[in-house]
Amino acid sequence: MMAPTQALFREDAYLKTADAQVVALNDRGGLILNRTIFYATSGGQPGDTGFLECADGSRIVIAGTITGETKDEIIHLPAPDQPMPKPGEVVKLAIDWERRFKLMRMHTACHLLTVVCPFPITGAAVNEEDSRVDFDLPDAGVTKEDVTASLQELIAADHPVFTRWITDDELAAKPTLVKSKNVRPPAGTGRIRLVCIGESASVDSQPCGGTHVARTGEIGEIHVGKIEKKGRENRRFRLRFGPLPVA
Ligand SMILES: [Zn+2]
Repeated sequence: MMAPTQALFREDAYLKTADAQVVALNDRGGLILNRTIFYATSGGQPGDTGFLECADGSRIVIAGTITGETKDEIIHLPAPDQPMPKPGEVVKLAIDWERRFKLMRMHTACHLLTVVCPFPITGAAVNEEDSRVDFDLPDAGVTKEDVTASLQELIAADHPVFTRWITDDELAAKPTLVKSKNVRPPAGTGRIRLVCIGESASVDSQPCGGTHVARTGEIGEIHVGKIEKKGRENRRFRLRFGPLPVA
């Protein structure tokens, strides 16, 4: 059993570069490193892209990052026809920061949306330009204008965003922390990562393994583009960057 990859992005989402050592190449051409700043697709947030640079200056373009059999296993997927490093080689890592920062802003905005719309979540997908959160909500009863205004208030307040680790028992004692209807945070690992917003988590806290901005003000202008009906009991809210378009 290999030691798991150290997930540097979990403690510092703002790392744009780092050094790492190649641990292994898996049988499908994926690269496993001893540590990484590349977030692997999970929890509705897509994995990072970027490149690795070898000692001789050659670059390996990384087209995506995924998890393996366990969430601790982080696999970097090279684009086709890339030079391959050898196990043991030290490489420089660089993520596509512009894309990642958009994902961090969007992802944090999705948390704020669950504050404005405190309903059970049935699905979510974060993307660079457009994200969605699905709620178990038979009747929206809210307009995109109202929700956008509430979101902008939380963004303008520039609340701090921070993480805190709690035990399985602490989570079990506070079931309301879990907002997802179908997905339970992984239990049995002994600790759960909580993402908190506001001084002393006054705005929100929920289990999440993704990457977020450090203050809500960094999200910038964002709006609810659409509230769609998805079946009898589901409403899909779409978030987009920029001001609410004038109808
Ligand atoms: Zn999150």
